[in-house]
Formats: sequence, C-alpha cells, structure tokens
Amino acid sequence: MKNINNYILSILVPVFNEEASIVPFMAALDNALGSIRERLDIVFVNDGSNDSTRQVIESVIHSDSRVTLVNLARNFGKESAMTAGLDHVQGDACVIMDVDLQDPPELILEFLALWQTGEWDTVYGVRVDRSKDTFLKRLTAGGFYRFFNWISSETKIPENAGDFRLIDRTVIEAIRQLPERNRFMKGLLAWTAFRSTGVYFQRPERVAGETKFNYWKLWNFAVDGIFSFTAWPLRIWGFIGCAISVLAFLFMLKIIIGATFFGIKTPGYASTISVVLFLGGIQLISLGIIGGYISRMYRELKQRPIYLIEGVYGRYQTSEQSAEQAQQSKAS
Ligand code: UDP
Ligand code: MG
Repeated sequence: MKNINNYILSILVPVFNEEASIVPFMAALDNALGSIRERLDIVFVNDGSNDSTRQVIESVIHSDSRVTLVNLARNFGKESAMTAGLDHVQGDACVIMDVDLQDPPELILEFLALWQTGEWDTVYGVRVDRSKDTFLKRLTAGGFYRFFNWISSETKIPENAGDFRLIDRTVIEAIRQLPERNRFMKGLLAWTAFRSTGVYFQRPERVAGETKFNYWKLWNFAVDGIFSFTAWPLRIWGFIGCAISVLAFLFMLKIIIGATFFGIKTPGYASTISVVLFLGGIQLISLGIIGGYISRMYRELKQRPIYLIEGVYGRYQTSEQSAEQAQQSKAS
C-alpha cells in the first residue's frame, strides 16, 4: 500500500562541478515546495567534482538537516551517479532532477499530484519544444529517440523525456535489482516503468555553469543505450551471409553457363575488385558490431562495482560521528 498522505519525497540530484548552481537550486526548491518542505529527503550525489561543489553542499548540510551528500570517489558519469543516489534515497517516491534548474521544481507538485492518485508509478517530464537547443542537438536527439524505439523491440523510451521524473518506491526497488554495469538509465527506467505518464514542460536555460555533455559524450551515450537494449544486430549476419552466398552462387552459375555454352568472356578486374571491397566492408561492419557487444559483455563479466563511495554525509552520520565532530570543533 502506498504511503500517499504521510509520505517522504526524495529529491535525487547528481552533480558534477556545479559549485554555482547548488545554492540557487536549494532556494528554488524551497520556493516551489515550501508547503511540503518537511517531507523532503534531498540527496546530492557528488560525481567527483574538482571544484568546490563538495564544500558548498557540506555547508548546506550544516544548516539543513534534510540534505545528504553521497560523495563518489571520482567521476563515474551521470548514469552511475543516479544509480548511487537510488541506493541511498529513503523516500516513498523519488524525483530525479538536474541541479542547473533546467528541470523546473514547480513541476514536482504536478508529478506528486499524479502519483498521489495511485494510478501512476512513474511520472516523467516531457520537453514541449526544444527551441532553446541548437539545430544539431534537436536533429540528433529526435533521430536518436526514433532510431532507439525502432531498433529496440522490447523497451520503448518516451520521446523528449529526460531523466527528470518522479518514481515510486516500487520502481526504485526494481532498478536496484538490475545488476548491469552498462547503465543507460533512460532505458532502465522505461524498462521498469510499470504505469507511467508524462507532463509537458518548457525547458529553461541553465542557471549557472555549462553543460557537461559534448557531442562526443552524447554519441557514446547513444551507442551504449542502443547496444544495451538490443541483441538482434548480433543475429542478422547469418541471414546476410546466406543472402550473399545465394546471390554469389547464382552469379557463378551465370558465368559458367555463359562461358561453356555461349562463349561469353567475363570481364574481370572491375567486377572482382568491387565485390571484394563490398564484402570486405560488410565483414568489417559485422565484426565491429559483434565487437561492440563483446566489449560490453566483457565489462559486465568483470563485475566491477558501478560506483565507489568516498563517504556519505548528513543524515547517515551516526551519533558517535557527530559527537566526535562536536568534540573536535570544540577543541579547535
Ligand atoms: N552530471 C553528473 N556527472 C557527469 C555529468 C553531469 O552528475 O559526469 C550532472 C550535472 O551536474 C547536472 C546533470 O548531471 O546536474 C545534467 O548535466 P548537464 O546539465 O550538463 O546536462 P544537459 O542538461 O546539458 O543535458
Ligand atoms: Mg543541464
């Protein structure tokens, strides 16, 4: 039974070099969620920042007991940071959001209202228009969602939905059961989205700092997503091979019959070289694709942890630790 009236709402925020965004984020959050202020469990996951992000969060923790910091040992990437956060949130539901205020906190009340109807386990934000994005970003993002949903037979991800969403505790637990190292969260969240719905919103500009995702990172991210939610590209090579063999056999028959009965001389060089190059290309593509799967299987096989934690600060602090700290600060 869901705790719809007496709930705790976790806010999970992965951060990487965001020293200038944390304070505005907290102010905007309290401004938007003042009415449920006491129900919040705010978990920042510091993804190996090398600016003063950690210190800023620690000073927030000092004056705000709702805040927890999960400090990762180094930068593991946003997907791993979200995984670490989901392992630490305590709420009956959790909102995953960016710290740069591109995910408007006001929307959380709408998410919450939908969750409280008891009909939805996942409520995700959908970007209404991407006019703030560059033309190239719009084109590639649109292309990616369409291609992913076409190629992935089992899991479909909603178009123009980012990671900004509210998920129920059942979804959190489901995600925590997924052991895979390749964490394409959009896909995993869709895979576990039992009953989901979207809310439209305009995505504003970043409040401070700059984006952490360049095109190369986004490309790798997209490729990872596609590899981890498909298997059939591994299997098509047998069919392609059969088709090419049949065609080659027919072509060979034609040449033999032509030469034996009609005395047709077959011109050699150009046709040979084009067939050889064409087949060489196909073989390399197939090897590349198989290699893509094997390298990801290798990563899974090694079973390395998805993230490493340096420490957890805030609500997880034991009473002994805080007593020790108090002693230390008295002494200094
Ligand atoms: N982020 C992270 N680890 C990374 C890169 C990004 O935790 O390696 C966080 C970042 O601090 C922000 C969120 O992920 O809170 C989204 O990043 P960003 O705003 O740069 O992405 P964009 O909105 O441009 O897609
Ligand atoms: Mg952003």
